[in-house]
Amino acid sequence: MNAARTDFLLTVEALTVSFDGFKAVDDLSLYIDRGEIRVIIGPNGAGKTTVLDLISGRTKATSGSIKFKDRELTKLREHEIVRAGVGRKFQTPSVYDDLTVFENLEISFPRGRSVFGALSFERDKVVVDRVYEIAEMIFLADHIAKRAEFLSHGQRQWLEIGMLLIQDPELLMLDEPVAGMSVSEREKTAELLNRIIGASSERSLVVIEHDMKFVENIANRVTVLHQGKVLAEGKMAAIKEDPKVVEVYLGH
Ligand code: ADP
Ligand code: MG
Repeated sequence: MNAARTDFLLTVEALTVSFDGFKAVDDLSLYIDRGEIRVIIGPNGAGKTTVLDLISGRTKATSGSIKFKDRELTKLREHEIVRAGVGRKFQTPSVYDDLTVFENLEISFPRGRSVFGALSFERDKVVVDRVYEIAEMIFLADHIAKRAEFLSHGQRQWLEIGMLLIQDPELLMLDEPVAGMSVSEREKTAELLNRIIGASSERSLVVIEHDMKFVENIANRVTVLHQGKVLAEGKMAAIKEDPKVVEVYLGH
């Protein structure tokens, strides 16, 4: 059915990676639409993080294909995949503690985009405006001059999302972004992710998450991974009732 369509933002087909004979991802296919928020759930060790490692080029596939627009990512290196428009957030945020919110965002602004010509003040204004725009979006406008070390855990997570957003990725992948967050921070993160998609129907999100309430607040479609394979896929309402999913995951 999906094979007929070629307009997905991301098309993963028959993707397999084997570590010493153990297939962490096993013949996986995944189709992500533009403007979609896809959540990947599944038990520990299901292969969720490994899927993101494969898409971002951190891990090399044993076989299969990962197509982002018209580019085959399995042939590219990590930095080339970033440049192609794929951003990825790890479980632990990597922000610069001794820099302010402003500075963390500013240094993440992509260099070498020479559309501003040689006039550095024009470039500066574009960068500063964008930094403020992102700070507002990630709920940190009132903390713009605060050093990252003084932010809460949740605020640090948002800052890292902002550092990715300022690079304007078309595909943004987040690995357990609300782990360790308070209930109100979780709700704001769901709002943030919905805003990110609302701001651009060309952009898509892939989010790994365990918190079912959070998943229901953001997902268009959910993919359940189990032993490196897709166990089920669809709307959360149907996924929750799926006996296979209840057996291996939700029933625990
Ligand atoms: P999840 O994120 O769903 O909890 P992971 O993708 O982290 O699961 O891991 C899936 C399986 O692959 C686990 O059994 C893990 O030990 C194994 N694995 C992941 N990365 C490697 C690696 N680089 N080398 C060997 N085994 C790995
Ligand atoms: Mg994981």
